[in-house]
Amino acid sequence: MTTRPLQIRLAAHAGYCFGVKRTLEMTENTLRDAGARKVYACGPLIHNASVMRDLARRGLRFIESQDEAERGGLLVIRSHGETEAFHLEAAAKGLAIVDATCPFVKRIHGLVRAAHARGNTVVIIGDARHPEVIGINGWCGGEALIVKNAEEADRVRADKLFAVAQTTTVLSDFETIAARLARPGRTLKLRNTICDATSKRQESCREIAEEADAMLVIGDRNSANTRKLFEIAKRTCKNSHFIENINDLPLKALRKCNTIGVAAGASTPERMIKEVIANMTTVNTENTENTMDETTEKTMADYMAEIEKSLRLPRTGEIVTGIVIQVSNRDVIINLGCKKDGVIPKDEIALEPEQTLLDAFKEGDEVQAKVLKTDDGDGNILLSKKKVVINEHWEDINRALEDKSTLDVKVIKEVNGGVIAVFKEIYGFIPLSQLSDRFVEKADEFIGRVLTVRVTRLDQRKNKVVFSHKAVLAEARQKRLQAIWDSINVGDVIEGTVMRFTDYGAFVDIGGIDGLLHISEISWGKLKHPQEVLKIGQKIPVKILSIVREKEKISLGYKQNCPEPWSVIDEKYYVGQIIHGKAVQIKDYGVFVELEPGLDGLVHISEIAFKRVNNISDELSVGQNVAAKILEIDKNRKRISLSIKETLDKSFDGDARTAVEEEEDVDAAFAFAEDAAPAETAADIVAEETAPAEEASAEETPVEASFAEEVPAEDIGEASEDIAAEDLAPAEEAEEADSAARDGE
Ligand code: SF4
Repeated sequence: MTTRPLQIRLAAHAGYCFGVKRTLEMTENTLRDAGARKVYACGPLIHNASVMRDLARRGLRFIESQDEAERGGLLVIRSHGETEAFHLEAAAKGLAIVDATCPFVKRIHGLVRAAHARGNTVVIIGDARHPEVIGINGWCGGEALIVKNAEEADRVRADKLFAVAQTTTVLSDFETIAARLARPGRTLKLRNTICDATSKRQESCREIAEEADAMLVIGDRNSANTRKLFEIAKRTCKNSHFIENINDLPLKALRKCNTIGVAAGASTPERMIKEVIANMTTVNTENTENTMDETTEKTMADYMAEIEKSLRLPRTGEIVTGIVIQVSNRDVIINLGCKKDGVIPKDEIALEPEQTLLDAFKEGDEVQAKVLKTDDGDGNILLSKKKVVINEHWEDINRALEDKSTLDVKVIKEVNGGVIAVFKEIYGFIPLSQLSDRFVEKADEFIGRVLTVRVTRLDQRKNKVVFSHKAVLAEARQKRLQAIWDSINVGDVIEGTVMRFTDYGAFVDIGGIDGLLHISEISWGKLKHPQEVLKIGQKIPVKILSIVREKEKISLGYKQNCPEPWSVIDEKYYVGQIIHGKAVQIKDYGVFVELEPGLDGLVHISEIAFKRVNNISDELSVGQNVAAKILEIDKNRKRISLSIKETLDKSFDGDARTAVEEEEDVDAAFAFAEDAAPAETAADIVAEETAPAEEASAEETPVEASFAEEVPAEDIGEASEDIAAEDLAPAEEAEEADSAARDGE
């Protein structure tokens, strides 16, 4: 025979409703705290005899009329509520009211009282004999019209109606009656005050019954809503049974069933449901051949665990999840699936400005809250949503510490050794040393700023957390540098900024990394100091010459932005050309003239003047501008031979005053003429000033050679090093030239 596990399916909504549960808890608390005072109830609080017997055993006295109660006693009002007159009577008799009226019913009392006071005729859609309806009517002077069906609605004559519903009214009935009440010329204000606890129980009972082989409806036969559930179950599942106590369990009838559905009325205690379920273990179904297989046991065990859970109360500090069952402007009531409801007071909820609890919550919402107290004094569990949010913030911080992610915090004040910064509602500390990747002397500039931080230390128990902004900056910098290292290649030309000088070059920032621009790589010519060419802060294109990633060293070149002068010599220079250059080095055998940075030519001593020159320094000085004629260009040996005297008038045999200097005088004359005279006369002045060279030279101050900046032999340029003196100098001077060349090496 096939063995199939026994399935027990409990309706999603079964057992005590919110109002009943609240009434019983308030009664229990009252009995516990009453001391010597007597506790009364006018009639049964709920329709469940066993629960009432239990309360009676614990001291609750059931009375028919308040006359039976002793003055000073405590009078519990059941969830259905009572009339206003009942309350007044109790006060007059010196009885203290314990008002356990369901808040949903209490709300209706307020509505009808206000509507009646405004002159409306109150209509209650419901059963006139039901205690709840009697109670409601008692809050509008007993003048309400009570309408049970459409026909009764048609008989209503008043023109200004305010209609509410008994909480257990079926919605379709309410809609039908409301439609009949609405008439032209009549004012009708409708309030749907139906509580869905009943309809939900009925709906879930129907759903279960559709799939069940047998249905058990647990509750008291005096309970109207349990009887209604049984009716619904029976209509769908013929094998339905009304279970008032464990003796009613039809074990034989259940033996052939695989799926048993269980429903329970709003006044059925959970312990009774649990008891029935527990006894189901004794059901030996035919198809399991008198044995409960593992799956069946597991199903049962699971179910019992659920029941246990519903009976267990959460502990203080526990995070619980529940369903919103009531929202008011003061608090939110949560069904936690256990025997007590939770209440979240307004001040334990973080609301947006202008937001109300009614905006933020609605019945049926699932919410998480932290248990502050397992009893708030009214029999509810005191909850806080704010604390859950703070818990979530701590979780964010914990996560940030674990996965090294960042948080945004706002610096709010300076304290000794650092600042206080807040993440959502959690305050942390940032030491001064962790505020920035630069030195911070005073933290006041950070107040009010939002900083991205890492969590470096955390002690949630002590509410302590330490942040570091520096760590984030350092990581960002590291990433930036990594990106630069990954993107640069030898040969790339990129923009850099000159940051600082040293004697051997300049450091250039190429986006976070400093590269060395060696002095020899700044210019094709010779430099004494980088600042001859560069300025601090100057942006320049630099070529990457080498990268040593391990040592984080980059060599840069600047001169490479221009072609090496010898590589383009033919494009710019030719033999016979008169060039203008600067005397850069004076030797015994001649003077080196710089045509352009990196390109020097040698004017041999014999080519300086037509006269015999014994001491070059008597004729020329370093830095002096000269004109010279190119005698020879030797590309192989990279040598240029120049002659100054070839630019001079042969008849001139005086000082080696050159045509350049004469030109400079002419330039000066031009400048003077332009400043002093109209353009047409400037030419005349120029004509006068450009007198024969010998005259002009004779009148000028002779060149005074300066030795102050004589270039040391070791600084002689490549050209001068390579120039062999014997090629350029007479035989008797060759030895000296050789000596100079060796010094250059
Ligand atoms: S059925 Fe609704 S209105 Fe009635 S006591 Fe229960 S929760 Fe309150």
